[in-house]
Amino acid sequence: MASTLTDRLSRLVKTMRGQARITEDNVQDMLREVRMALLEADVALPVVRDFIARVKEKALGAEVVGSLSPGQALVGIVNRELTATMGEGVSDINLAAQPPAVILMAGLQGAGKTTTTAKLAKHLIEKRKKKVLTVSADVYRPAAIEQLKTVTKQAGAEWFPSTPTDKPVDIARAALDHARRHYFDVLLLDTAGRLAIDEALMKEIAELHKAVDPVETLFVVDAMQGQDAINTARAFKEALPLTGIVLTKTDGDSRGGAALSVRQVTGVPIKFAGVSEKIDGLEVFDASRHAGRVLGMGDIVALVEEVQKGVDVAAAQKLAEKLKSGDNFDLNDFLSQISQMKKMGGLAGLMDKLPTQMAAKAGQADMDRAERDVRRMEGIINSMTPLERRKPELLKATRKRRIAAGAGVQVQDVNRLLNQFEQMQGMMKKMKGGGLMKMMKRMGG
Ligand code: GDP
Repeated sequence: MASTLTDRLSRLVKTMRGQARITEDNVQDMLREVRMALLEADVALPVVRDFIARVKEKALGAEVVGSLSPGQALVGIVNRELTATMGEGVSDINLAAQPPAVILMAGLQGAGKTTTTAKLAKHLIEKRKKKVLTVSADVYRPAAIEQLKTVTKQAGAEWFPSTPTDKPVDIARAALDHARRHYFDVLLLDTAGRLAIDEALMKEIAELHKAVDPVETLFVVDAMQGQDAINTARAFKEALPLTGIVLTKTDGDSRGGAALSVRQVTGVPIKFAGVSEKIDGLEVFDASRHAGRVLGMGDIVALVEEVQKGVDVAAAQKLAEKLKSGDNFDLNDFLSQISQMKKMGGLAGLMDKLPTQMAAKAGQADMDRAERDVRRMEGIINSMTPLERRKPELLKATRKRRIAAGAGVQVQDVNRLLNQFEQMQGMMKKMKGGGLMKMMKRMGG
């Protein structure tokens, strides 16, 4: 499993703390990681190059504000650029035409054209209250015509019959004529699939386009298509004046880099995403969510927020995963929590953000003393053996005396630390994985 961009960058981030600016020197390594992440997500190489150049331009000289490191600042820039690239433009279906508005569906065989045609029909009926007719101009596969008939019925739209002996252009014209005479608002025209780019078929679809003058020409593309998506998109873009993209099968496990490639090559907006095989599995495309996926970050927005607050995201995630897998929160984790808290702008800011119970314990304690306490806690844990940190239950009187001596504190200080640790452990048990990020967010914000 490829590591996420956050993992990659946080590794670099560690080596770059304290640098105030993104410079030619420090940006190269970071951009290499971004490039790898995009390639792993199957974004086409030329698109990656362009994207990286744009990010670099935006990043160079960018002030690294507050406690951010250059790496953290860059995650933000990459995310914003990715979202902007995939999200520009309008994203609902344009029906601004003398009815019936014709929508032409184009794409490779198996991309999901027929399924999407029915999904769109349902969308237009339910969300836009339109009267919708579908027709298939796929005269090469009688099964395709039958398939459209079946799914159209499921969508609650009407279907216009066609037969393999007709010419595609004649079918389209007849359907348009029928739609006009029966006052349909929209005619959805499904076209012949092609397994690969095929000149004769490209010519045919261009002629179809000319014959019906669609208000929308949608390029349907499989999110799992990977590197090749760019060539397909280019060919369709040359044959047809595309107006939008539908990205199908986003429920699969690809990272969906095709979205970025196709968006860049065609220059038209991604309007919808297919999210299941079912007839209602169509959603308006959400660029920021998809950006997170391309970068390999489940919830990038939350992550970048955490990063920008100075929380060590990689450490937090590791802990979350550890707790989820049923492992115990041990003293090593406690130590890392303590040092995180120190990073988050000192204890003064932290105290009122801690869960009330813990804050009350801290009471009105003078903050300087609190800072000293934290250093002492770190000292105590550092005096323990790795085994003791993993298994605090081993800590009986003799070991406690040894540790206290090592850290230059009293045995009751060791006991106090163990108490605090147990409280934290109890909290962690309650929160498990998911709640952890929330807690960190509360403390950081
Ligand atoms: P066409 O040849 O372009 O018309 O493609 P089809 O509409 O026949 O779809 C090909 C296959 O992909 C079918 O098995 C569909 O059920 C499936 N499919 C289409 N869209 C989606 C989607 O968004 N998610 C999933 N999981 N499957 C899809």
